[in-house]
Amino acid sequence: MSGNAMKLVVVGAAGRMGQTLIRTIHAIEGAEVFAAVEREGSPFVGRDAGELAGLGPIGVAITDKPLEAFVAGEGVLDFTAPAATIEFAGLAAQARIVHVIGTTGCSAEDEEKIKAAARHARIMKSGNMSLGVNLLGVLTETAARALGPDDWDIEVLEMHHKHKVDAPSGTALLLGNAAASGRGVSLAENSVRVRDGHTGPRPLGTIGFATLRGGSVIGEHSVVIAGEGETVTLSHSATDRTIFARGAVKAALWARDKKPGLYSMLDVLGLN
Ligand code: NAP
Repeated sequence: MSGNAMKLVVVGAAGRMGQTLIRTIHAIEGAEVFAAVEREGSPFVGRDAGELAGLGPIGVAITDKPLEAFVAGEGVLDFTAPAATIEFAGLAAQARIVHVIGTTGCSAEDEEKIKAAARHARIMKSGNMSLGVNLLGVLTETAARALGPDDWDIEVLEMHHKHKVDAPSGTALLLGNAAASGRGVSLAENSVRVRDGHTGPRPLGTIGFATLRGGSVIGEHSVVIAGEGETVTLSHSATDRTIFARGAVKAALWARDKKPGLYSMLDVLGLN
C-alpha cells in the first residue's frame, strides 16, 4: 500500500457488496480499507472487516459511528439501502468527502436530498458501476435515437437473485433513461413498469419493463428493440460482483480531486 493510498470507508460492510468492496479495495494499490461501518445494534460491530470478508484479519474493526469514520477518511463507498444512503450523504456533506453511491431504489424525494448533499460532498451515484453496462447505456441511447417510436418498441428485461428488494433494478432504469434520452422524452411519462390482465394494445412510444427474480443471479439485462419483422437485442451479463466494486473504487479515486457536485459513472469513464 502506498503512503498516498486513498482512505476509504465501506458502509454496509457485512452486506454482499460490502464484503466484495473490502476484498477489492484490499487488492488495489492506491486505496485502503480505512474503516468499515454497520448499523447500530448489528451483530457484526466490533468484528474485523477483513475476517468477515474472507481475507483474514486486516486490523479494521467494524464500527457503528459513521461520522467519526467519515471525518478522518477521504471517501465513502455505499451499497446499502435508500434510508441509510440519505443519512450517509448528509454526513459526507458535513465531512466534505467523496461519497460513491451504488444503492438503488431511491425515490424522487431521496434524489433531491442527495442533490442537496452534493453542494458540499463530491457524490458519484450510479445504478451500475460496471464499464460494460455504462457502455450498453451509450449504445442503447444511440439505438433508440436511430430506431424511432413509430416503428420500433423498446422493452427492458432484467433478472436478479431472489434477495433483491427493489424493482425494476437500478440498471434497468439506467438503460430505460438512456433509451428515453435517445428518443428525447422523459422516462417517467413514457414507461410501463408492469403489465397484468387486459392491458389493451401497446401504447406507441412507451418503454416497457419486465422483472424476473430467482436464485443467485448477479445481474442480467437486455434492451429489446422490436420492429416489424426484425428485433435488435442489446444485453449485458454480470457474473462477478467485483465489476461493481472495482468501478466504485475507480469512481472514488477519480472524484478525489474534483469539486463538490453530483457526478455519474459516465463522467468517471469519460463516456459523457
Ligand atoms: P445487502 O447484502 O442487503 O447489503 C446491504 C448492507 O447494508 C447490509 O449489511 C445492511 O445491514 C447494510 N445497512 C443497511 N442500513 C444500514 C445503516 N443504516 N447503516 C449501516 N449499514 C446499513 O445488499 P447488496 O446486495 O450488497 O446490495 C446493496 C445495494 O446495492 C442495493 O440497493 C443493490 O441494488 C445495490 N447494488 C448496486 C450496484 C451498482 O453497481 N450500482 C451493484 C450491486 C448492488 P442490515 O442487513 O443490518 O440491514
